[in-house]
Amino acid sequence: MNRYQRYFPFLKPYRNIYFGGIFAGLVYSICTGFGLPTMMQAVFPAVFNPDSELSSLQLIGYASLLPAVFLLRGISGYLNQMVINFVGLQFMRQMREALFEHLQRLQLGFFGKYRSGELHARLTQDTQLVQTVITESANDLVRQPAILIGAFSWLIYQAFDNQMVLFILLACLTVPLCVLPVRFIGRKVLAKAKRQQDQFGDLSGTVSENLSASREVRAYNLEERAISGFRDRMLSLVQAQFRVLVYHRVLSPLIEFISAIGVGLALYFAARGEVPLETFLAMIGALYFSYDPIKKLGLVHNNFQKANGALDRIEEILDTRIEITDQDDAIGDFNARGQVSFKNVSFSYEDQAVLSEINAEIQAATRVAIVGPSGAGKTTFINLISRFYEADSGEVLIDGCPLSRIKLSALRDNIALVPQEPILFQDSLLENIRLGRKDASDEEVFAAAKVAQIHDFIKSCPEGYQTLAGERGALLSGGQKQRIALARAFLRGAPILLLDEATSALDSESEKGVQQALAEISKGKTVFTIAHRFSTIRNADRVLLFDKGKIIADGTFDELLKNSLFKSLYDNQNLSG
Ligand code: ADP
Repeated sequence: MNRYQRYFPFLKPYRNIYFGGIFAGLVYSICTGFGLPTMMQAVFPAVFNPDSELSSLQLIGYASLLPAVFLLRGISGYLNQMVINFVGLQFMRQMREALFEHLQRLQLGFFGKYRSGELHARLTQDTQLVQTVITESANDLVRQPAILIGAFSWLIYQAFDNQMVLFILLACLTVPLCVLPVRFIGRKVLAKAKRQQDQFGDLSGTVSENLSASREVRAYNLEERAISGFRDRMLSLVQAQFRVLVYHRVLSPLIEFISAIGVGLALYFAARGEVPLETFLAMIGALYFSYDPIKKLGLVHNNFQKANGALDRIEEILDTRIEITDQDDAIGDFNARGQVSFKNVSFSYEDQAVLSEINAEIQAATRVAIVGPSGAGKTTFINLISRFYEADSGEVLIDGCPLSRIKLSALRDNIALVPQEPILFQDSLLENIRLGRKDASDEEVFAAAKVAQIHDFIKSCPEGYQTLAGERGALLSGGQKQRIALARAFLRGAPILLLDEATSALDSESEKGVQQALAEISKGKTVFTIAHRFSTIRNADRVLLFDKGKIIADGTFDELLKNSLFKSLYDNQNLSG
């Protein structure tokens, strides 16, 4: 239970209603554990005794006692369930919010380690499991012991009354006997449940990967591979689920068997002790109400073990430290001119060194093309400007101010990023452009779309700017998506523009449009372009040539032609590997 302590604040706003629910649960338990056996003992003899002459009214009174107890039990049980479920759902909501919020703030490096489907599974499936446990089990943790104590005290009282010492001993002994399998099985369930959740995450990861690559799957004839991969994972998941069930489900019959032995022995002692039938029946009832809670508590134990598995996976995310954060005194109001400096910057992913001792001084409003073979560190260089990653040593500065001194949100307000394959969100084209600057008016969005040369196309769509982009922009061509992304960047009005230039995915018509749009948007900005095409380096004020994590040449296009690597890249027309 200790590990749940950190989540108690989630329950705090619902404290009063929660305790109300628990109280209703107690009423339910008392009705069940103490009320029903008492009823049996009081009502049966009165009704069935041939000597007692009951009037119809009395008979009705006795007969309606049972429904009355059940009514009270029913109402309190219902209230209890509703409240606990309500609180459980609130708990899950808050846990998901905390997890989602943490995911938004985590550094990019984190996402390289997990598949998105895996994270999705943790966000949904694992939190759901924890909620189920909180709802069902936390309630049982209060209710079942209460039923047990109620029924057990009744049994002891009766046993004393009928001087059945052996019966008391019996009742006292079989209880611990039930606890042993509960503990053993609980341990087994923990191990199996963790595996089951891992398998589920793996399956979700595979499915989401597959669905987001539907084109590649067909293009490379990967259907059979995908199907057999899915089949294998599904099989492993079902096996893992079945292993949990094997242990989980054995608990009830085991405890029922132990309790049946108890009842058999009770039968024997009762016959010996000449216990009247009605007392005996009530005793069997009370005995049942003693074993049942033990059974349920055993299941609670199992459920907590299952939830522990899920919680491990949730906390793996929650406990990942957010590495890139704002300093307390970071500058929040930052309007850059656009001068960018790298001073002795080195960087590695995990332990793979990617950039070493990078020095570069870029004046505001310079157009910089970044060139080099694949894996040379170009993207990483660009990513450091946005502070997606933190340099291991050295400093990146904007207008002479180290990035760590600037609030992250302020820094990113000064940068517009256009990736090679821009993502459009499931929203209208209007809103997709407005993402660049959320307070932009519709007119400003139209103006940006005109500059990016996408306005006419949008207008020609049946629903104009209200056209939905489709999932990840599936309904638009590569060139159209690029231009939407450029409109977004233009609208942002940021002094620094980071471009991963679109490659040959664009047809020549689109390319011309994108180039013109780009030239317009770049005016007066500091532009870093990972260049895949000649036109870019020809237009650039400065070219940085990267190789193996270093800048090996830095100058104008003509100056760089003297460099043999540049010359060979140029001759091969393969500027960025
Ligand atoms: P380029 O853009 O020049 O192709 P990158 O900056 O993308 O090069 O990558 C440089 C090196 O860093 C490559 O060897 C690549 O495998 C590695 N790398 C890139 N991103 C990551 C990442 N998120 N985690 C680990 N290694 C990475």
